[in-house]
Amino acid sequence: MATVFSVLLLALHGAGYGQSSPRPQPAPLPPPLPAPIDQSYAGTISLSVDLTNVNDRVLKVRETIPVKPGEITLLYPEWLPGTHSPSNPIENLAGLVVMADGKRILWVRDRVNMWAFNIHVPNGTNALELTFQYLAPVKPKEGRISTRIADLTWNSVLLYPAGYFASRIQFAPELRLPEGWKFATALDVRSQNGDLVEFKEVPLNALVDSPVYAGVNFKRVDLSSGPDNPVFLDVFADKPQQLEITPEELQYHKNLAIQAQKLFNSRHYDHYDFLFSLSDTVGGKGLEHHQSSEDGTRANYFIDWAAGVSGRALLPHEYVHSWNGKFRRPADLWTPNFNVPMQNDLLWVYEGLTDYYGDVLTARSGLRTPEQSRDVIARIAANFEISPGRTWRSLEDTTNQAIISSHFARPETWPSWQRSYDYYPESNLIWLDVDTKIRELSNGQKSLDDFARLFFGIDNGSYVTVTYSFDDLVNAMNTVQPYDWKTFFRTRVYEIAPRVPEDGITRGGYRLVYNDVEPEWMKHMDRSRGTSFATSLGFVVQGGGGVKDDDEANADGNITEVTWDGPAFKAGMTPEMQLKAVNDQTFSIANLCEAILASEKGNAPIKLLLKRDKEFITLSVDYHGGLRYPHLERVESTPDRLDTILAPVK
Ligand SMILES: [Zn+2]
Repeated sequence: MATVFSVLLLALHGAGYGQSSPRPQPAPLPPPLPAPIDQSYAGTISLSVDLTNVNDRVLKVRETIPVKPGEITLLYPEWLPGTHSPSNPIENLAGLVVMADGKRILWVRDRVNMWAFNIHVPNGTNALELTFQYLAPVKPKEGRISTRIADLTWNSVLLYPAGYFASRIQFAPELRLPEGWKFATALDVRSQNGDLVEFKEVPLNALVDSPVYAGVNFKRVDLSSGPDNPVFLDVFADKPQQLEITPEELQYHKNLAIQAQKLFNSRHYDHYDFLFSLSDTVGGKGLEHHQSSEDGTRANYFIDWAAGVSGRALLPHEYVHSWNGKFRRPADLWTPNFNVPMQNDLLWVYEGLTDYYGDVLTARSGLRTPEQSRDVIARIAANFEISPGRTWRSLEDTTNQAIISSHFARPETWPSWQRSYDYYPESNLIWLDVDTKIRELSNGQKSLDDFARLFFGIDNGSYVTVTYSFDDLVNAMNTVQPYDWKTFFRTRVYEIAPRVPEDGITRGGYRLVYNDVEPEWMKHMDRSRGTSFATSLGFVVQGGGGVKDDDEANADGNITEVTWDGPAFKAGMTPEMQLKAVNDQTFSIANLCEAILASEKGNAPIKLLLKRDKEFITLSVDYHGGLRYPHLERVESTPDRLDTILAPVK
């Protein structure tokens, strides 16, 4: 057998890999895209988008691009600010036809860059006429367009010439809306004729930064903290009653604008618009822009206020980005156009500090009570205590997550080991560490509020981005409070740091504890994504009476996540199993909690019946630690710095 095999191998080598055959040589790659230069593109590109076909979610685009004869490369934006990844859905662009002087001409896609189209412009041609469609997802919650609400992002409906800074390419956009629809945007309107809206000319970077929300049910709410700080909440909802806001809810949102002013003592917008969709048909969203943000959450945001505590930081987070992320930006995250790759290493500041200030403003504005805010911090820390991914992967490396994830459609199987977008919540804890450290070192005279004013409060009124480096950040920190901030950040962010950064909790006057008492607000929580037993048995499960949404009924018992090295993992549980029974009783959240509480008092393991595909599996989980809800417990006789941080600024 061995002899025959060797002969076969020899024969194969002789045929393809023998010394007499020429070695294959690499084919030349296509030339790189023209590098963007800081020079005006001649002429204005007119862009006309027809949004009337919301039934099919098909957006029709007509674009006229002034050109000169010769070669031109047109780009579909690839790297979108705020998503930190090459995520603009090129697969949804279809029907592209290019005309020159009434004649159809050929376009050829670049062979390595799928976002680039090469065109030979014939002699005598001074403009190209493009038509194409953007095919928005039709599945409910996957896309951002329904028959009642539309989130129009200009980056999905345009091509632009390669070789120029986005700020030097002028666009004249117009939008045809479905009959009778209202709209909101940071763009300035030139004219409106019925459902046709013509916007004032804008450079490409500002256009992409200024999406339009439109819809049937609309309410514009004034949140301005004063005449010099115009802030609006533009609410679009599936149904008119979902627009109703109680006076109390309104006050919390107004407080947000007031408290943000006190924190940053500046603004970097003419007027700020929260574009806010409340819908069970379009998906949720949170995407920052300079003078607006794309925000989207469940339809009953105002109606079932108590259910939303965990997601309450959405608007504060996106608002903070107007200062941190849009106005001040890491130098390698500022790119001259939308097809130059971004580098994400400072996202622990761009996103992490925004997460921290966002949570602080959520507390200071009353959107969360101090106790709810402390519970949220406890949950973040508790999640890291059970996630061993920090033993092999630095926090800085997780800033690449958006780019890595853009290459595959499925979620991670083992996020607690692989690590995920940890640069949000883990950096949040690190910035709490920083804030309490400054307060400690300065005997309460200085805080991260001072850093906010120093770093983000410059150039009041300007929205021209000011970039920074790691060293700039460290220098600014040292101006606020001298300390070895360089080592502080290097050891926590850039090196492997297995210890959970909980010093901010301790220095804040609290300690992390676990008990069987579920916080009151969590009982009202929207559990459509599942109920977490991560800190106890080590998994997240959908359904079982923990789901309010009928759409999720078929998700009953689905295990969406299993904690690496947790009790369920050790017993053999994997994601995608379905939980059918707990201790021989049909699975429900109630009887699972009961079983965990019973096991706390005895020695018997918990018996779980699971289904994987067509196979039934019984697992015995030897766990006796109780429900382990994380809380922060006050340590008397230590300074209560966390309470000071969370209290509204007078
Ligand atoms: Zn963010």
